[in-house]
Amino acid sequence: LCSQTLLDYGTEEQKTSYLPGMAKGDIIGAFALTEPEAGSDAGSLKTAALKKGNGYILNGQKRYITNAPFADVFLVMARTDPKSIGSEGVSAFLVDSKTPGIEVEEPPKMLGQKGSLACEVNFKDVFVSTEGLVGGVEGNGLKAALRGINHARTHVAATCVGQAIRLINEMIPFALNRKQFDVALADMPTIQNMIADSYTDMNAAKSMTLEAARLFDLGSIPSLEISSAKYFASEMVSRVADNALQILGGAGYMEDNVITRMYRDTRLFRLYEGTSQIQQRTIARALVKKQREK
Ligand SMILES: Cc1cc2nc3c(=O)[nH]c(=O)nc-3n(C[C@H](O)[C@H](O)[C@H](O)COP(=O)(O)OP(=O)(O)OC[C@H]3O[C@@H](n4cnc5c(N)ncnc54)[C@H](O)[C@@H]3O)c2cc1C
Repeated sequence: LCSQTLLDYGTEEQKTSYLPGMAKGDIIGAFALTEPEAGSDAGSLKTAALKKGNGYILNGQKRYITNAPFADVFLVMARTDPKSIGSEGVSAFLVDSKTPGIEVEEPPKMLGQKGSLACEVNFKDVFVSTEGLVGGVEGNGLKAALRGINHARTHVAATCVGQAIRLINEMIPFALNRKQFDVALADMPTIQNMIADSYTDMNAAKSMTLEAARLFDLGSIPSLEISSAKYFASEMVSRVADNALQILGGAGYMEDNVITRMYRDTRLFRLYEGTSQIQQRTIARALVKKQREK
């Protein structure tokens, strides 16, 4: 998220300072867009960045910020024009995580993805020099963020495909080894239907994801294909995880099971980088707009 945003919107100096370190994993970035009152409606964010001397003073609260406890730098979307409403007047800032006034709260316990932490981050009179303003221009913040988000949505779709493959690879050996009524589960038609549906679902999501990535590589930002791939793939992996759990029977409900963990982990994909409802909204709006313009 952070590196893609910088790659497209950062100044040459910002790219040189951050991108090689981010690519190597030496610099960890945290993308700070969501706020308590601004989730799906990110354009309503309230964090303020007021011009002062050769920089800005940031005040506000961000929520569910992944990597916040480990971050070297926050990419913070904040309102530079206090009179603006909606996405206008929002700018993006690179803020060193050691800057005085930044407080990262204790990570909340999550349903899954326990190897990842998402925290509230408070910014209280945090000074950022003008060098931290992404691209050196005000007002581009949400556009820049969306550029990173579109990339991340494609990654989420690909991750969902990968996790579905793993789930299928887990469910089949179990179905082969487990017998009931003297028959292996893998030979029961209703179980076979679940295996077949999972594979078909995964393959459809894979094709959609590859197509979105192919269009991306051609240089455009295919937001319609990206949103539909992210929407379908994230819903798909939940269906596959549910099938896998069902095939395991009671074992699928036990905590020490990889499928149980993946069932919880994959649930997140329908929520972040835009919920499924937000993808539906994006897809429908783009199609309706196209039709209107005809
Ligand atoms: C584990 C985790 C990690 C995260 N990491 C980050 C991060 O690193 N950086 C960051 O900035 N954010 C992060 N987020 C935030 C994430 O992007 C938001 O949670 C997400 O955008 C949804 O916002 P919300 O939770 O406020 O839900 P809300 O926006 O309040 O939505 C609640 C429900 O209403 C629905 N809804 C909302 N608007 C509409 C609409 N117009 N039409 C139909 N339905 C609608 C939603 O689909 C959802 O079902 C993370 C979240 C989680 C859970």
